[in-house]
Amino acid sequence: MIPVNEPLLTGNEKKYLEECIDTGWISSEGPFVKKFEDEFSQRAGRKYGIAVCNGTAALEAAVIAAGIGKDDEVIMPAFTIISCASAVIRAGGIPVLIDSESDTWNMNVDQIEAKITSRTKAIMAVHIYGLPVDMDPLEKLALKHNLKIIEDAAELIGQTYKGKQCGSFGDVSTFSFYPNKHITTGEGGMILTDDEETAEKCRSLRNLCFQPGKRFVHDELGFNFRMTNLQAALGLAQFERLDEFIEKKRHTGKMYNEGLNDLKNIRLPMEKTEYSDNIYWVYGIVIKRDAGINAEEAMKKLADQKIGTRPFFYPMNLQPVFKKMNLFVNEKYPVAEELSEMGFYIPSGLAITEDQINRTIECIREIF
Ligand SMILES: *Cc1c(COP(=O)(O)O)cnc(C)c1O
Repeated sequence: MIPVNEPLLTGNEKKYLEECIDTGWISSEGPFVKKFEDEFSQRAGRKYGIAVCNGTAALEAAVIAAGIGKDDEVIMPAFTIISCASAVIRAGGIPVLIDSESDTWNMNVDQIEAKITSRTKAIMAVHIYGLPVDMDPLEKLALKHNLKIIEDAAELIGQTYKGKQCGSFGDVSTFSFYPNKHITTGEGGMILTDDEETAEKCRSLRNLCFQPGKRFVHDELGFNFRMTNLQAALGLAQFERLDEFIEKKRHTGKMYNEGLNDLKNIRLPMEKTEYSDNIYWVYGIVIKRDAGINAEEAMKKLADQKIGTRPFFYPMNLQPVFKKMNLFVNEKYPVAEELSEMGFYIPSGLAITEDQINRTIECIREIF
């Protein structure tokens, strides 16, 4: 079986983990956590980094720290992971959806302004699969309408937009270090911000809102979102190799592009836009309507050939859980819905070999 993802843990991971065990520092109090926060935030040019237990937790804390509360509207893509919408809902807010661009698969920034109301408080910019959201016009809109920007850069660790690091945009940015992300801590996440108050709020929310001085007296409800020293040890070792990992992802993307670009029945990821070169967090394929096969069927055929795949995101407006909550009733997002029906992604983890890539290409060529 060629797995859809397999991480690469062949650097200093073992060494740093041994250090945790040898010294007994395994909880969030250990020294790797601060070190990982400092190094990670520095690369993005951000003042503060707050490491947390996963990317969903990062979003939940960031949304609250950005001031989202009861009935506040937050604009976000329909085509994303549920964590984005659930973070806003848990904070008491209301997600407001935007359709995708059919070529980059990112939120269509041109459609944002029409959805801004007097209750809109923030725009959540979620970079999807390999190319960033078009941030310049999004930032202009936020400025014009006095909206906060929450940037979810989970999928684009180390990517840039017009030369500026993803994770450096807006009021607060979040990351995930799940094993399929560019660097992994097993489970883990990070919040970046330049605002001291936001950083302090995130640190407090992460740690049950314990108060300095009167530890077990709480003014607010927090979470236990702490990252352990063991996770941060992994993160630091992974982070040392980020540039190499990005290069490897791009090499995988290039091999797939060259091996598949003459197939008429499928659309491949855009290699670049005017603002970024694709980083291929995942390598997505979108089947054309007239191919006579949808993503589910293609994925089944690839599974028969022992090739791992994953479906694309399922749009937020179609989620059964949100139907039950009477959210997004009768709303339609045709591009996002098309992507979810016709799109899937193929093996592109950091441990993939050229042989595995070539075999995947052969099988896809056979189907299409
Ligand atoms: C992976 C991911 C998350 C969630 O991260 P977890 O660490 O799995 O909780 C959030 N947003 C996006 C865009 C992601 O890809």
